[in-house]
Amino acid sequence: MSTVAFIGLGNMGGPMAANLIKAGFTVKVFDLVPAAMQTLAEQGALTATSACGAAAGADIVVTMLPAGKHVRSLYVTNATSSDATKGLIDVVAPGTLLIDCSTIDADSARFVAEQAASKGLEFIDAPVSGGTAGAAAGTLTFICGGSDNAFEQAQGVLNAMGGNIFHAGGPGAGQVAKICNNMLLSVLMVATSESLQMGVDHGLDPKVLSDIMKVSSGGNWTLEKYNPCPDVMESVPSSNGYQGGFMVDLMVKDLGLSQEAALLSNSSTPMGALARSLYVNHAKQGNGKRDFSSIFELFAQSEQI
Ligand code: NAD
Repeated sequence: MSTVAFIGLGNMGGPMAANLIKAGFTVKVFDLVPAAMQTLAEQGALTATSACGAAAGADIVVTMLPAGKHVRSLYVTNATSSDATKGLIDVVAPGTLLIDCSTIDADSARFVAEQAASKGLEFIDAPVSGGTAGAAAGTLTFICGGSDNAFEQAQGVLNAMGGNIFHAGGPGAGQVAKICNNMLLSVLMVATSESLQMGVDHGLDPKVLSDIMKVSSGGNWTLEKYNPCPDVMESVPSSNGYQGGFMVDLMVKDLGLSQEAALLSNSSTPMGALARSLYVNHAKQGNGKRDFSSIFELFAQSEQI
């Protein structure tokens, strides 16, 4: 079985790495937060003292980091390494497959892919959908950009962490598809929140209203899997004080990426632009570290009118 270096053990990366261990891979982990590595060590991972230390000797490298700047820096010039001029692409063995699962701008993904190719290495962007629950259950959707060869090689390791694995196109294509998806998700979350709250304002039970809309023409993923109204669903962030899950700050990042992408292609995205404004304001109210379904609170009425 292959050895996988897994770098970035946050809300998503931690459970993804755990699933690789369960599937029988030898997993060597690194994160800037020692406690995150300790949790994985208790599940059978080997630990490293640097990202380069984890990647050297691995067959496959998987990264799950916050944003493009982290991915560029780690792969190309690793500021956290003792030798700040060396990135992962300088230390991995020939033939190592590089897979970045973070959601980042397509330009950064293409840049790292080009830098990797200049060293004879294959890199694919493979952002995910499915949230922390999907990461824990091993049912993530992977949306890949890269060569046919790299996509084929990645199947084994991606299958151990997810179900649906798509090849969107060449380098960066996975990121473009992911940003389209998250722009849609944000719009659905805002619209579901305002609809549920209006029902509540008129005296409806949000559980009953959710059941109705779920099987009616307004049905969508947020109603089925991620209801934003507290205590409608169990085991979702809204029933846990909006802790864990997908941070508002990360949604703000993704909506910024969507608007940058829209400018580049001269696409009209009024709903995405509005969702970005709402999420930016929500973050500014101190909600940046809470789950993105907390946007529901924007619509709660302080007093009856
Ligand atoms: P997170 O902030 O919980 O985790 C990121 C981890 O990366 C942290 O543990 C951090 O310490 C680590 N890290 C940062 N820089 C590092 C470096 N140089 N070396 C080693 N470790 C480093 O974020 P997350 O929720 O796990 O999200 C990760 C990515 O996945 C983001 O791009 C996000 O947009 C995307 N994503 C998240 C979700 C979700 O539901 N949380 C869903 C789909 C996609």
